[in-house]
Amino acid sequence: MRPTPQFLLSATSAAQFPDTEAPEVAFLGRSNVGKSSLLNALVGSKQAHVSATPGRTQAINFFALHEGAPGKAPTLMLADLPGYGYAKISKSISAEWPKFIEPYLADREQLALCVCLVDAKIPPQESDAQLIAYLRSIHRSILVVGTKADKLSGNEKTRSATALKDGLGIDQVLLCSAKSGLGIKEIWTELRALQM
Ligand code: GDP
Repeated sequence: MRPTPQFLLSATSAAQFPDTEAPEVAFLGRSNVGKSSLLNALVGSKQAHVSATPGRTQAINFFALHEGAPGKAPTLMLADLPGYGYAKISKSISAEWPKFIEPYLADREQLALCVCLVDAKIPPQESDAQLIAYLRSIHRSILVVGTKADKLSGNEKTRSATALKDGLGIDQVLLCSAKSGLGIKEIWTELRALQM
């Protein structure tokens, strides 16, 4: 059975980021892209529910996965970042985003992978393209995940993947669905590959 990551803490400043050594995976996406639902599917609804608590939506919520002996340090960390808006991401990454997000992305040494969620049923969005370009400019590893793929037929899935790859300038997009479970195993495979 897959161990469940446990909610660790909510941080609203760099000083509150956990002092962990495990590789960390950040989850990023526009509001309403299905990030909470995907995290529910990945870590279990009881855990991800925490990040939907009012006041925590503008925080980075950290989850720790322990696979060693009880009490040992985590082997993997998940970081749920606040959703960004529908408008273009302005000058810096986003005017709407709390100030600690950009330093988190730029400076967090443990950050091993940025999972960028994009809605598979709509055309590529400028804000997503900007975020991906920014992450690339700071040399972050990126996994682009197309959400809500259960809403697409087989042909539509192919078309959506092509449009997202072209529009976002990426080589690969992993289509998934929190509803049907499509792609969840594949995301876990990517996460496990990073584990200490
Ligand atoms: P968040 O704002 O990114 O955390 O998005 P939510 O997880 O709250 O989801 C936003 C909306 O999309 C909700 O109405 C969800 O029910 C819906 N949604 C999320 N994931 C899926 C999915 O995999 N399939 C479908 N059909 N709807 C989804």
